[in-house]
Amino acid sequence: MTVFAHPEFDRHEHLSFGHDRETGLRAIIAIHNTDRGPALGGCRMFPYSTEEAAVRDVLRLSRGMTYKSALANLDLGGGKSVIIGSPQQHKTEALLEAMGRFVDQLGGLYVAAEDSGTSVSDLRVMRRRTEHVAGITQRIGFDGEPYDGDPSPATAYGTFVGVQAAVRYQLGRDDLEGLQVAIQGVGNVGYRLARHLRDAGARLWVHDVRDIQMERAVDELGAIPASAEEILYLPVDVLAPCALGAVLDDASIPRLRTRIVAGAANNQLARPRHDRMLWRRGILYAPDFAINAGGIIDISYERKPTEPAVVRRHIERIGDTLTELFDRSAKERLPTGLIAERLAEDRLKEAATAARG
Ligand code: NAD
Repeated sequence: MTVFAHPEFDRHEHLSFGHDRETGLRAIIAIHNTDRGPALGGCRMFPYSTEEAAVRDVLRLSRGMTYKSALANLDLGGGKSVIIGSPQQHKTEALLEAMGRFVDQLGGLYVAAEDSGTSVSDLRVMRRRTEHVAGITQRIGFDGEPYDGDPSPATAYGTFVGVQAAVRYQLGRDDLEGLQVAIQGVGNVGYRLARHLRDAGARLWVHDVRDIQMERAVDELGAIPASAEEILYLPVDVLAPCALGAVLDDASIPRLRTRIVAGAANNQLARPRHDRMLWRRGILYAPDFAINAGGIIDISYERKPTEPAVVRRHIERIGDTLTELFDRSAKERLPTGLIAERLAEDRLKEAATAARG
């Protein structure tokens, strides 16, 4: 396995491998860029089949966080960590404390948050060994509701605002009444997004691999159940991938019948070139790292008490950022994902120049 020559390495600042003899912890922390501030990113626990797969995942996710935070104008860099193991079988308090010690060794360059396979309560266990943990404080959230650190409500709201911006741009309408939306994955984020959309009058089709999730969306929101095979290919206005990454690829893109792709899942494009493929087909793609930044925006306010309305307005600026990306994409005749990366890179350069004085 190569590291510096790894295809996903992309100028990472730091990569650490942590092992704990007593608990068997095997974890990796990747820090992509700290020009704008400490690298905040989730700690994912997953039973990777190979170490290569874990390294690839942590590098890709960590880079994504740099771009996400820069586009959302946060004073944060990009980083991520992974624990190799099954959350159901291998997660113990001792292992999480060992992860906390590993995070602590970096002295705050990396700050861990919740991710798939870890929960707010897991992060609280890590907090026993390091202060460099985020998304664990109970407070009033952006929506005025009590909040326990789970970023999903903010991510779902930001994604909803992003869908509105995409609809305004692509379909020229301000309301969502009767808008047809297919949602793949109705978990923490997808379900809440579905609820916002239903409240705004949209008609929903949903698919989830877990029956219980699917039933909740059907029973509580009146969504129409769709099969795994059909959910991506329904003739709808908006397709919202909210389950897993790499759903937009050579096989799926030619078969899409949507006008817009706007969902919360990370790394929706299987390869960077799929951005161009969507653009050529006239499908408006809301870049994932732009539209799903609500959670990180919310977490960024954790240590500086702020009026919920201010946080909410920051999340709502996701809509303005997307509109700017769509406009530039049309003007410069370039796909939206590429424009989003360029805008984030401009912001990183500004931060690096400012830091050098
Ligand atoms: P989650 O695990 O709560 O929900 C994901 C749902 O997708 C689950 O209900 C699962 O059963 C379902 N699913 C899995 N594979 C599927 C498939 N092949 N087809 C249909 N459904 C499938 O996760 P979440 O927190 O809702 O996150 C959803 C996506 O959004 C993930 O890609 C995540 O990385 C991304 N994201 C989440 C946040 C956040 O705040 N939670 C922030 C940014 C990005």
